[in-house]
Amino acid sequence: MKIHEYQARQLLLDAGVPVPRGEMVESVAAAQSAARALFASGSRQVVVKAQVHAGGRGKAGFVKLVRTVDEAVDAATFMLGNRMVSVQTGPEGIEVHKLLIADAVEIAHEYYVAVLVDRGSRTNMLIASAEGGMDIEHVAATRPEAIIRMPLDPVRGIAPYQAREVAIRLGFRGKAVAQASDLISRLCTLHRSLDASMVEINPLVLTPPTSSDPDGKVMAIDAKFAFDENALWRHAEVEQLADPQEADPAESRAHEFGLSYIRLDGNIGCLVNGAGLAMGTMDIIKLHGGDPANFLDVGGSASEQAVTEAFRIILSDERVEGVLVNIFGGIMQCDRIARAIVGAARTVGFRVPLVVRLEGTNVAEARTILEAAKSDIPVMQTASDLSDAARKIVAAVGAGAAA
Ligand code: GDP
Ligand code: MG
Repeated sequence: MKIHEYQARQLLLDAGVPVPRGEMVESVAAAQSAARALFASGSRQVVVKAQVHAGGRGKAGFVKLVRTVDEAVDAATFMLGNRMVSVQTGPEGIEVHKLLIADAVEIAHEYYVAVLVDRGSRTNMLIASAEGGMDIEHVAATRPEAIIRMPLDPVRGIAPYQAREVAIRLGFRGKAVAQASDLISRLCTLHRSLDASMVEINPLVLTPPTSSDPDGKVMAIDAKFAFDENALWRHAEVEQLADPQEADPAESRAHEFGLSYIRLDGNIGCLVNGAGLAMGTMDIIKLHGGDPANFLDVGGSASEQAVTEAFRIILSDERVEGVLVNIFGGIMQCDRIARAIVGAARTVGFRVPLVVRLEGTNVAEARTILEAAKSDIPVMQTASDLSDAARKIVAAVGAGAAA
């Protein structure tokens, strides 16, 4: 689960990390009064930032520095009135409903720092770079040596000397070393205490020296947090930060019906029971040269209504050119799936090839139901096993694409 930058900034503030003051607004009028208040209380520059669950806002023109209230109004009008298209959104872009109006700081240098669950090394990993900012992906891809990676002890978290070491390797000097290492430690603690999958600050900035801060100030001016959904039950304070306006509508609907659904990039819709079988199904589709359009686990005991909903979700995705149903009936009864297929054909309609492989509890009854429905669902084929199913759906989709 993702949250907005303004929410992540609040979590950082609560954890003692310095963040410039700011306010979330949902209209141009509110943006105007927020900007006016900031300028009145001493801000020389203000930043207007789209609050959306996608990055790349700066390059898309949805982070704007302004020097007057009028400029803030213009920026807010533009952002609330146009869809944001960035490298992370796809060409159709996304709507912007919320803005952050914040004090803009002067920047001497931009750094990158993040803590994430690194599956490759099976640890929490602190990642940092002195080359933070909008080109960090390019730095990571072309000059991996510019990225510091420090595995964290799963029990003890980060030790003070490790945080200091990273701060020094990043190039902080003088009093900024203590500020940066304190911030890094707090970020690691926050990552763990909130069961986050990722906490990222890009950029972390050092401000230019002043008479009161001769080594500059270290602050977080962007924040991107993601949380492990399986741990949300113990973080009510995080769960309530979810923004339904940002959620993928298909994923929200699936959640409502107790289905685990994740959109992928391919064109073969999958309906499977059990996460392991769903993974196996995706693998075998790939093995036969196909590409899954989604991960969908209806679970062990989904009702016929939930399974029908699952079909509705898969079929409403216009990229789907074929559907593979792979069910092993343990607790799930195959006849329930067969009835849901017949029901879905009636209420949703199969516009693409469908391959069904069922095995296990009540399979004989299920086959009878499907056999009887065959003439009503001409796009349906049955398969004898998983390989057969994968081969058939890949062939059917390929034939469709060629036609
Ligand atoms: P992102 O592009 O979605 O990651 O949005 P960011 O919040 O990281 O902003 C993009 C860029 O805008 C940053 O890398 C900075 O260069 C610039 N920027 C953002 N906030 C400020 C600010 O308060 N002061 C200054 N001088 N630049 C800022
Ligand atoms: Mg950023």
